[in-house]
Amino acid sequence: MHPTILGIEGTAWNLSAGIVTKKKILAEATATYRPKTGGIHPREAAQHHAAHIASVISKAIDSAGDVHIDGIAFSQGPGMGPCLRTVATAARALSLSLDLPLIGVNHCVAHIEVGRWQCHVEDPVTLYVSGANSQVIAYRNGRYRIFGETLDIGIGNALDKFARHAGFSHPGGPRIESEALDAKKYIPLPYVVKGMDFSFSGLTTAAKEALNKYSLADVCFSLQETAFAMIVEVTERAVAHTEKSDVLLAGGVGANMRLREMLATMCKDRGARFHVPEKRFMGDNGVMIAYTGLLMLESSEPLEIEDSMVMPDYRPDQVEVTWRSLT
Ligand code: AMP
Ligand code: MG
Repeated sequence: MHPTILGIEGTAWNLSAGIVTKKKILAEATATYRPKTGGIHPREAAQHHAAHIASVISKAIDSAGDVHIDGIAFSQGPGMGPCLRTVATAARALSLSLDLPLIGVNHCVAHIEVGRWQCHVEDPVTLYVSGANSQVIAYRNGRYRIFGETLDIGIGNALDKFARHAGFSHPGGPRIESEALDAKKYIPLPYVVKGMDFSFSGLTTAAKEALNKYSLADVCFSLQETAFAMIVEVTERAVAHTEKSDVLLAGGVGANMRLREMLATMCKDRGARFHVPEKRFMGDNGVMIAYTGLLMLESSEPLEIEDSMVMPDYRPDQVEVTWRSLT
């Protein structure tokens, strides 16, 4: 019998609890922190999570119906320290009071695992693009290896910073996408790829300055084209290097239709398959933590409380992937 796992996610602005078995999602409940002004304030987001965590967990448990939970999984990192600590505290309390195993999940690995599960794809190159993270990841010999990543801020943060400057509310990505549809021309902006890594802060600054000279639509379009071309280039090189035949998109920025179109074209040119999970599995969600926790519990020992401290800089390649074969 496979276990039933409760997973809690709360690394940034989304607080979410999911309950899964190996085959099925039994429940999901979410509460999202929305900053009144500016970007995500870590302490305010943590206060939001603290205020809602009991109700989010009860809602998930109530809607799962009559189930026995076998383990408590939580996002151990990467993420904002205050948010991570709030979620970890709740997870430890549940684990201790219900006498259930505690499982610390790497948030980036969870994005990959939920995508593999939902898209039925075995061994993809994953492009993980969210607010704080931007990484190109592929599995090899027991680890998810990072083939390329941002040298400064995540691509979502880059878009959000530009959007705030342009006067849009948080999160700015969707608004940039819709403004870009009215563009008439491409304005050259700094394209920064160094080896397999990329960086966005120079691009964001240049895009902000371009607003003084060019139309909002043209700048939004050019910002997207430049930033997406950079990450698609690195993804393509990772596919060529690893000789894998699948590409998986993960993270909130994956909602962007222009990014999807560019990735689909690249995959078609290379004869690779392109996989996009349903939107609710691409952003941060409790289901991905529960499902990855389930894979971990079936293949390794649970966490001791004393090893359950949060890891704001936790990298996916630090995780020993015990649930996949060594190839
Ligand atoms: P996450 O950190 O995975 O929750 O993703 C949040 C990020 O996704 C924010 O930076 C948003 O601006 C960005 N985002 C959401 N929708 C879109 C979109 N349609 N285009 C570009 N970025 C988006
Ligand atoms: Mg994420």
